Amino acid sequence: MWSAKIFTLYPEFFPGLLDMGMYKRAREKNIWKLDIVNIRDYALDKHGSVDDKPFGGGRGMLMRADVIDHCLINNQNNNPTIYLSPKGKTLNQDMVKNFSLQNGLNILCGHFEGVDQRVIEKNNIEEISIGDYVLSGGETAATVLLDSVLRLLPGVLGAEGSLQEESFNDNLLEYPQYTQPREWEGKKVPDVLLSGNHAEIKHWRLEQSRSITQRLRPDMWQKYNKNKN
Ligand code: SAH
Repeated sequence: MWSAKIFTLYPEFFPGLLDMGMYKRAREKNIWKLDIVNIRDYALDKHGSVDDKPFGGGRGMLMRADVIDHCLINNQNNNPTIYLSPKGKTLNQDMVKNFSLQNGLNILCGHFEGVDQRVIEKNNIEEISIGDYVLSGGETAATVLLDSVLRLLPGVLGAEGSLQEESFNDNLLEYPQYTQPREWEGKKVPDVLLSGNHAEIKHWRLEQSRSITQRLRPDMWQKYNKNKN
């Protein structure tokens, strides 16, 4: 069973969106489980303080290293721990695939201005960003991360074959797709898709993927060509 453990000051965020549809069913089937740890339960003083002002000045509050460390020590397991942070390595599909192959993931969600850096260093925690923008907390980022990972776990999606031809596999974006009606507002579905010729369809789709990637994502196009040679 793939195990997600989330360290947060806002446990009420979860399971949130992860309690719907296929993820709910997958959790009931024990394909994955979710443990929510409330960092506030590990506060070290009687006021339950979890944050304080940054040394050196600046606005906002920082989450305390001692409180987070106390929380981590009391909730150890063998899975990697990551901290969601705009400073981290930007999440991509290869990283997502890798996470899905582990036994699970421990996810530290920051809030306010973030976390005292010492607890990240002490515990060798990898920092991961979900993109170049700033959120108010790691909880939404954790939801995004888990959505991307959980759908790769065997048995979560109905048609597992469909994972093979998705965007970002082999550094290509997906080809365009069409369904009924065959003609809509004067626009026809490309003939080749109605031909029943599987080899030709496959060829057309690859060519579409290649030209879309070349046009929209020169960075991916470069990687695609490098990997091919
Ligand atoms: N002062 C920080 C931003 C803190 S935002 C800075 O300038 O870098 C508060 C929390 O939201 C962070 O601790 C982190 O857990 C989460 N967060 C914000 N943006 C994020 C992003 N792009 N990816 C992942 N987590 C993010």
